[in-house]
Amino acid sequence: MPSAEIVAVGSELLTPLKAETNSLWLTGELNSAGVDVLLKTVVGDDEARLEEALRDALKRSDIVVTTGGLGPTEDDITRPVAARAVDRELKYHEELEAELRERFKRWGREMPEINKRQAFVVEGAEILPNPNGSAVGMLLEFDRKLLVVLPGPPREMRPMYRDHVAERIKRLGGGTIAVRRLLRVSGMGESAVDEAIAPIYRSYADVETSILFTRAEVEVHLAARSNDPAAAEAILDELSERIAEKLGLAVISTNGESIEEIVGRMLSERGETLAVAESCTGGLIGMRLTEVPGSSRYFVEGAITYSNDAKKSALGVPEAVLSDHGAVSAETAEAMARGIRERANAFYGISVTGIAGPDGGSAEKPIGTVFIGYSDGVETHSVRFVFPGDRELVRWRSSQAALDYLRRRLLKGGRR
Ligand code: ATP
Ligand code: MG
Repeated sequence: MPSAEIVAVGSELLTPLKAETNSLWLTGELNSAGVDVLLKTVVGDDEARLEEALRDALKRSDIVVTTGGLGPTEDDITRPVAARAVDRELKYHEELEAELRERFKRWGREMPEINKRQAFVVEGAEILPNPNGSAVGMLLEFDRKLLVVLPGPPREMRPMYRDHVAERIKRLGGGTIAVRRLLRVSGMGESAVDEAIAPIYRSYADVETSILFTRAEVEVHLAARSNDPAAAEAILDELSERIAEKLGLAVISTNGESIEEIVGRMLSERGETLAVAESCTGGLIGMRLTEVPGSSRYFVEGAITYSNDAKKSALGVPEAVLSDHGAVSAETAEAMARGIRERANAFYGISVTGIAGPDGGSAEKPIGTVFIGYSDGVETHSVRFVFPGDRELVRWRSSQAALDYLRRRLLKGGRR
């Protein structure tokens, strides 16, 4: 199996301000073509270090993919340095300069002279067109190695890879492809999930299983490598089916669908609607629900009722409930859920009230104490959670718990 490595170029990627994400996307593409990524390097705009990194990479790996540093400015060094690293010259291409001038003209501008640099290509390299930007990419095959030089902006890099590189890599991968599956699990910890399903996935030697905890849920990633995509799909069908059976209601989806999508689909299918009243989540639940296209079919209204006054005036939570039990209580959560449901004239009302921290905790109600309220016109309920983690995690886990409460309720039949 061929090995690959990725070299991301750009000093901004070595600051705390910019996350290096190109290699994540590229690794996914390379993996699914049956190529393993064994190393990634992030190099600043430093000629000596970049040349060394490229020479080393080409010694070790069959495929080297670089991104970034193809722009026209002084600090964009990938073009000349890549040429040096493979002991070749840069060759001027008249037609590239003509295209660049044409491009600028279309924007109503004169091409700055420095852009002429982008008309130079490593001798013997194939030119990879860039319909989304000014920097062309390069692909060079030599000594049974493949060097691919791509621009940095993801919206230029991705289509260039897909349109001009992916096929080549697939051929090098020898027809082996990786098929992936993502199962999302809610309401269980990472180790509990692993404990439950390890005996199952361990018996599938050809499937790589990894379990990750994200902000609010557990992801089970399955990857099967095969020359036969249908056989790989069949193995993953069987394995995910067995995992889903073992984990039961905790499984949100076996095809990567998010909890927002699942809840949305269930509501749509039933022709039912939802309104949410949020306190400590500050609109997060509404945001998550409305990220799904078509959510207007079932999402009616969200209220961010942070203060006691807002809970009273917008949701009709009685003063006595707030003063007797406090804003973070089962009674308040239930009054909020009932209130938003009535006010929005929705089928379901969901609410969240809690203490996200870092201040405001007490012995009786420590930081992370959250009540989820539910009201469907027949019944009104609430559940209490104490979530570990900082403010951000508590807010995410609260939003998740609210969506998951509704999801489980809908699975059991919804309003009775
Ligand atoms: P340009 O012609 O736009 O200058 P370039 O090939 O020189 O293209 P860079 O200047 O290195 O690309 O990067 C341009 C922008 O693309 C960066 O500011 C950054 O936002 C994004 N970018 C570059 N590399 C990466 C990366 N590895 N991961 C995520 N974003 C990246
Ligand atoms: Mg640049």
